[in-house]
Amino acid sequence: MNKASILIIYTGGTIGMRRNENGTLVPFDFNTIEQEFPAVRNLNVDISVHKMEAIDSSNVTPARWSELAHIIADNYGKYNGFVVLHGTDTMSYTASALSFMLENLSKPVIFTGSQIPMGILRTDGRENLITAIEIAAATDEKGRAIVPEVALYFQNRLFRANRTSKLSAEALNAFESRNLAPLAEVGVNIKYNNAVIYKSAPYFEPLHISDRLDDRVIIIKLFPGLSQESFKAMLSIEGVRGVVLETYGTGNAPTAEWFIDALREAISNGIAVVNITQCQGGAVAMHLYETGRQLQDIGVISGYDMTTEAAATKLMWLLGKGLSNEALADAMCHTLRGELSN
Ligand code: ASP
Repeated sequence: MNKASILIIYTGGTIGMRRNENGTLVPFDFNTIEQEFPAVRNLNVDISVHKMEAIDSSNVTPARWSELAHIIADNYGKYNGFVVLHGTDTMSYTASALSFMLENLSKPVIFTGSQIPMGILRTDGRENLITAIEIAAATDEKGRAIVPEVALYFQNRLFRANRTSKLSAEALNAFESRNLAPLAEVGVNIKYNNAVIYKSAPYFEPLHISDRLDDRVIIIKLFPGLSQESFKAMLSIEGVRGVVLETYGTGNAPTAEWFIDALREAISNGIAVVNITQCQGGAVAMHLYETGRQLQDIGVISGYDMTTEAAATKLMWLLGKGLSNEALADAMCHTLRGELSN
């Protein structure tokens, strides 16, 4: 059987740290991965490594997403799959953005990282990395990738990346996908959940990257006590084109006149306002309560069960495409990469 070839793209974060002889944490050299972990030789894969400038993922910007998309596109023909090593703090944002930017993707792009540095004995990074490589290389009986989408592997579970959020700064199972079952669960064997895995593109379509993102997007989280002044000030920031509004429960918000008027004015000025729930699970259903219905009536777009990470990156990506308001609203509330259940 031919060996799969996998490109590991190292972007920074805790997974890439090891202790030097003085006990200080320094970046790990992934080029020596086979010496460090002889176990990877048993995977029957050829591994290459591309190192980006290593950064803490708190410093990630959309320019970095574009750089990453280009690295994948430039190497797309040479590899069967990609493993992206990324800091956990903003991994769900980067992975969500990439899920939109990589159009016609038919190869695995598996994000992973770790909570404990690779160079610490108890690291979770080793298992995350090895299993991510195995998943990126996995094919079916016809030789096709089993997971031809952007996914995130962490602590024995593989998720659709644009369904994830980092929910714990402490637990090793730091990521959750509350509205979609895992794509795979890993125990002694890797059990793929084929019914959930997204087959986004026919295999003959060439990969296309669409990396023009409009970052004039803000996220507003409602809370009791959000003042009229603050809310209006945020909506009138010069140049804002999109707002992700984190509302309560099934998409509910205050019915106060000043609140609805401020939103109505923003929408009439061409700002796209997307309603997502600040709950960890469940979806927006604006018709259920009067407090949601008012939003629907003034043209707030439903984000259904999208995460904040998916909604914000999708909005940036759609705004970057220069669509009409109607086309943007339509694309926003329908699934494009399996990011929402509608
Ligand atoms: N601050 C780190 C980062 O996100 C944390 C991690 O890698 O887990 O880059």
